[in-house]
Amino acid sequence: MNFQELEREFLRVSRVLNRQHDKDQGIDLVGRFIKSRFGAEVLFYDFKVDKNQAVVNKVSDKHENSGTPIPIDRPLEDYHNPMFLKGEKEIDPYFGDSRELFLMNEVYAIPVVSRGEFNNLLLLYVTGNKELSLAVQAFGKFAAKELTAFFSRIQNSNQTFERVLFRMNYLENILLFQNRKFNINQIMKEMVDNIPKAIGMKKCTIALLDKKKEHLLPYYSNFLEPEIGIKYPIDREQMDDHTGILALETKEPVIVYDARTDPRCDPELAKKLNVYSNVTVPILNIQGEALGVMYVDNGQYEIFTTEQIRFLKIIGGHIGLILSNINYIDRLQSEVRTDGLTGLYNKESFLTLFQEYCKSRQKSKAPFALLMLDIDDFKKINDSYGHILGDRFIKKFSEVMEKSVRDEDIVGRYGGEEFMILLKDTNQETAYRIAERIRKNIGKIRIRNISTTISIGLAVFPEDSKKSRKLLEAADKNLYRAKKAGKNTVAAGPAEGHIDKF
Ligand code: GH3
Ligand code: MG
Ligand code: MG
Repeated sequence: MNFQELEREFLRVSRVLNRQHDKDQGIDLVGRFIKSRFGAEVLFYDFKVDKNQAVVNKVSDKHENSGTPIPIDRPLEDYHNPMFLKGEKEIDPYFGDSRELFLMNEVYAIPVVSRGEFNNLLLLYVTGNKELSLAVQAFGKFAAKELTAFFSRIQNSNQTFERVLFRMNYLENILLFQNRKFNINQIMKEMVDNIPKAIGMKKCTIALLDKKKEHLLPYYSNFLEPEIGIKYPIDREQMDDHTGILALETKEPVIVYDARTDPRCDPELAKKLNVYSNVTVPILNIQGEALGVMYVDNGQYEIFTTEQIRFLKIIGGHIGLILSNINYIDRLQSEVRTDGLTGLYNKESFLTLFQEYCKSRQKSKAPFALLMLDIDDFKKINDSYGHILGDRFIKKFSEVMEKSVRDEDIVGRYGGEEFMILLKDTNQETAYRIAERIRKNIGKIRIRNISTTISIGLAVFPEDSKKSRKLLEAADKNLYRAKKAGKNTVAAGPAEGHIDKF
């Protein structure tokens, strides 16, 4: 076999070895290969358990003595360098027992060092009067080196896997046991900090789809400064980088070697974010729907290993699960907080939110307003048309109220046909105008051509009071005044003040 052929063979072995994950299978592969190409037998010595004996496996062929511990006659240091030994006289001081057991005639022993530790020996031998060629010796050395690299790679990936498992476990624990207090931002921050560390990378960003699935929002990152409002459109016309879109569409990782020349990438963005090679992994929920993507890279050119990609895929699934769980818990919590008929905050949760808001504003003079609303003569509607129609009204009222205020305002169903609205950062004048708008909008509602009106009591912080309880009382009092004044009215100001009627 000439040198070039040998070189090609070398490459074949190392390529196959690179796809291996199991230590024994890797050794087996090398042993069988050497036997089939060079006719030499191969033993693998393991000193790890006991330095005075080696567990010896014949890896080129099955052997009845495979797995037997064999005494080692000399200190381990004496085996640190490759040795060629020929005949009983040379072999016996080092491998006496092995020679007898395996009938060795010539021996080539090569140390395999992994992680700075010498624990293994690769031993090639021939029996009878056969000889070990120089080629097989050269190949043996190469194979030992490849095994060294192989061991450290699988050890790395095992450790990585354990780390990843540990962190996943940790994150799951947060989810299971702290679901009352947990905070999605905290969990995701934990993720982007730990995921790259777990697989020897540097940067990680999680971008989630918005509600309409029109944009990817890079909410969480371990290196990007949060840029408020930054979003990447899910649209090839508007967005030069297509990796996120591709990962969302294919639901498979997108691997890029050179983000600065790859047609799927935007070179400007790559430069801005210091990306060379990167992986984009889809984040999928339990139903397999895409929720977002995770970008991971190392800030340099890199060939990602299959393990790294596999881990990232698994983690993408886990993030999806976590997000699904959070959504589920959110839904459960909101079911507790909201009223079944209207979906508005129920009395209890409205009061909690109102009190919290009030408390947070104690030091400030900035105004806010509270509306208490009660449908006029609602009993008549129920009595004349039945409760089912009454319920339809209540539902419609709640929609109109929600549409009449801003998103940040809080609308609650206080009970029956009574509602409350917290208008944040709103002064008396504006609150009055909004209350009027609601009153008019409610008056316009027609169901089966039936309509009704509403009365509203208004209280404003800090004029009417700075205390939440007093504000509630003031709003209630004004509601009562609105009713007394003939209904279909907004009443505001101190109890002695004017009543506005329209
Ligand atoms: P006022 O103008 O003085 O507020 O008269 P009213 O009839 O609206 O007030 P009252 O408090 O006497 O009656 C409230 C009525 O609202 C009683 C009940 O028939 C009705 N109601 C309360 N909750 C519901 C509900 O969930 N569904 C329906 N259909 N009706 C309800
Ligand atoms: Mg009432
Ligand atoms: Mg009423």
